[in-house]
Amino acid sequence: MVAGNGNLIAGASGDWEVVIGLEVHAQVVSEAKLFSGAATAFGAAPNSQVSLVDAAMPGMLPVINETCVEQAVRTGLGLNAEINHYSVFDRKNYFYPDLPAGYQISQYKNPIVGHGTVVLDLPDGETREVGIERLHLEQDAGKSLHDQHPSMTYVDLNRAGVALMEIVSRPDLRSSEEAGIYLRKLRAILRYLGTCDGNMEEGSMRADVNVSVRRPGEPLGTRCEIKNVNSVRFVQQAIDYEARRQVDVIEDGGGIEQETRLFDTGRGETRPMRSKEEAHDYRYFPDPDLLPLQLSHEFVDRIRASLPELPDQKKRRFMDEMGLSAYDAGVLVAERETAEFFETVAAGRDAKTAANWVMGDLFGLLNKAGLTITEAPVGAAQLGGLLDLIADGTISGRIAKDVFVEMFASGRDADVIVDEKGLKQVSDTGEIEGLVDRVMAENDDKVAQFRDGKEAVLGWFVGQVMKATKGQANPKVVNEVLRRKLAG
Ligand code: ADP
Ligand code: MG
Repeated sequence: MVAGNGNLIAGASGDWEVVIGLEVHAQVVSEAKLFSGAATAFGAAPNSQVSLVDAAMPGMLPVINETCVEQAVRTGLGLNAEINHYSVFDRKNYFYPDLPAGYQISQYKNPIVGHGTVVLDLPDGETREVGIERLHLEQDAGKSLHDQHPSMTYVDLNRAGVALMEIVSRPDLRSSEEAGIYLRKLRAILRYLGTCDGNMEEGSMRADVNVSVRRPGEPLGTRCEIKNVNSVRFVQQAIDYEARRQVDVIEDGGGIEQETRLFDTGRGETRPMRSKEEAHDYRYFPDPDLLPLQLSHEFVDRIRASLPELPDQKKRRFMDEMGLSAYDAGVLVAERETAEFFETVAAGRDAKTAANWVMGDLFGLLNKAGLTITEAPVGAAQLGGLLDLIADGTISGRIAKDVFVEMFASGRDADVIVDEKGLKQVSDTGEIEGLVDRVMAENDDKVAQFRDGKEAVLGWFVGQVMKATKGQANPKVVNEVLRRKLAG
């Protein structure tokens, strides 16, 4: 996995390679928290979703939520990872005002999921594998609210105890661009699986970004970890800033200290937060309130059997069975909703045509309107209906473009618009012959040119006939009739 030269950054003393590993915290889709029955819905009134366990009242005992375990296993399987049938919950001790127990329940030496892989689809059509080191389950902390009172900080424990999956990559990423591709792919996989909604604005996915630099071919350099970055764009900005900073420090004769930094989104800079704590600072030990987690083969097999088709498989199928290019297939599978939309449009129709309409006309109008595919005013079945009208010759492809714009604006079906506006294509040979005769009679000079071998004039004639029918003549029929009549 040697990075191409495109990924190197230039320093005063030569090129440097950036090395990145991401720790992604993904909130598990589950109605209840990891060890309590409190609800997890986003946006509830502060402290309205807090059980006695989450508030760490004395004597309360955590009880594992089976759904969260299933979701972690499902995610592990989706990442082609080893599922560990034996895993252990540990206490990770530290003080934080929004962590009432004084420790976080996490997994340390024995995580529920081991090594896996994520395939990156690179812009040049190539793919590259990024290793997954592990996935473990842990509790989220609460949230300190600093802006509610002039001199006090409030604490909202709604998030305390919500299940997170921490997904740790190997240091296999080599540029901010690759980190972006990785995050989007991981997000897509989680969303296909239904194990995390991937909503970064609501904090459902956050990343700790580990960055180091080295001379190509040298051993790994010392890394800095940038905590809690909450958008793909910020992750990329943080990497670019941090890599450049490290190169400058080293080239000035300094050294990189392993430390935790934060990303200032306003300034686009990383700043030191604290020196890196070591695992022993957390005094990890197995949580005596929880038994080790033991998964039966039946449990894992049942989840395996229920996995949906994932982006990589779908992309393969779109290429092999539907004849799409790697690029088109990649774009269409990137979001689960897009893939589903496309598949509905393509069912029983020409896949390439369906792909062109979804990626061209539909994406174009969605972009302009600032809408996502789930908000599209034209449903997949409706777009399919439009394609049927083209396929059976009712309207031309040209007219269809206008009909689609109208559908998008009004949400109405294609056939309704075509009827109402009288847009049916004229395929009636008799009518077209009449028009061709008229246009030829009015332009004998052009007829003569064609007969002298100036083939290009044909296009001009097609244009005239189309114009006379306001674009509604069937171009195929027009071409046939013209060729026949012009031949004399
Ligand atoms: P810790 O448990 O202290 O956070 P890990 O070894 O688990 O440390 O690594 C955490 C993350 O840091 C992983 O994503 C890993 O890929 C990444 N990482 C490790 N070494 C480096 C390095 N030299 N440069 C960049 N990232 C690294
Ligand atoms: Mg870490």
